[in-house]
Amino acid sequence: MAVSEKVNVRPRILIIYTGGTIGMIENAETGSLEPFDFTHLIDNVPKIKKLDYVINNIQFNPPIDSSNMSPAHWRDIAIAIEENYDEYDGFVVLHGTDTMAFTASALSFMLENLHKPVIITGSQLPIGEVRTDGEENLITSLQIAAALDAQGEPMVQEVAILFENYLWRGNRSTKMSADNFNAFKSNNYPPLAKIGLGIHFNEESLYRVPSKRPLKVRYTMDTNVMFVDLYPGMSEKILQHILNTPDVKGVVFKTYGAGNAPTDKWFTDAIREAVERGIVILNVTQCVNGGIHSTRYVTGDSFARAGVVSGHDITSEAAITKMMYLFGMGLPAESVKKYLSYSLCGEMTI
Ligand code: ASP
Repeated sequence: MAVSEKVNVRPRILIIYTGGTIGMIENAETGSLEPFDFTHLIDNVPKIKKLDYVINNIQFNPPIDSSNMSPAHWRDIAIAIEENYDEYDGFVVLHGTDTMAFTASALSFMLENLHKPVIITGSQLPIGEVRTDGEENLITSLQIAAALDAQGEPMVQEVAILFENYLWRGNRSTKMSADNFNAFKSNNYPPLAKIGLGIHFNEESLYRVPSKRPLKVRYTMDTNVMFVDLYPGMSEKILQHILNTPDVKGVVFKTYGAGNAPTDKWFTDAIREAVERGIVILNVTQCVNGGIHSTRYVTGDSFARAGVVSGHDITSEAAITKMMYLFGMGLPAESVKKYLSYSLCGEMTI
């Protein structure tokens, strides 16, 4: 479906500039790229005026490389959206690509009952470079943030990532390439829109919050969670050490294929014992595509029987931020396990 906008009403969009390559310039002494201010960025996109939107901005001070992004920054972005929610039709977050999928996933959980577009974008080449992808990404994101459906409601009512030719659901996205302009992909969910000569929305894939309740922002993320990436040769000593990490409440366990892990007694005993101590273990696949089917093999079945929760086809980025969000609400382990098995905002297919 083509983009439509309210007749005679200029869309109001707030740009939240956090940093990332899109706004970086080269340090003359070191040759490394460093974040730079928003005025420099916007001066490089004079075409923006042709959109005839009301565009305002908020910027991180200082703007950051997204490798320095933390839950405190996610909170700042969420607060900026909350404080300006009624004033704007949509939000465009400019962000580095490295941790963009984590931020998109985190915001999808933190912004409960979201009914407006939050479009996250960035670029592989700085906006000041001749072949930059940043200009197009920014302009397309603004158009998507302003797009309405046939009922005059925002076309996108969720957190999404726009990069080059596609719009992806934020909590389904992963950074796939450090070089390509099409840097992101959602391996287990179709694109929300395809960008070519026009912006073509895939309306059946768009998320709609079932209730009309007002936006509710959750600010607290509990960081007492961790990833464990399984590999042949993981020793009992190392596994025990990991599972006894002080203060850890949840582990996103990346297993083989459809959710398989060794059936050695020491291995399943260690997992079962950690679960009995109250540690929540979520099983996600190491594969880029597909999900957990724990009963397909004995190796998956024995892992599941040790008390591990299935992450179905959730991405690692969504899995770890969902755990932070659920523990951040102060929920006990049993409730965290329960909500991990539900799709809260379109992050997995059950
Ligand atoms: N290191 C940069 C960042 O994530 C990479 C990028 O923006 O593409 O901020």
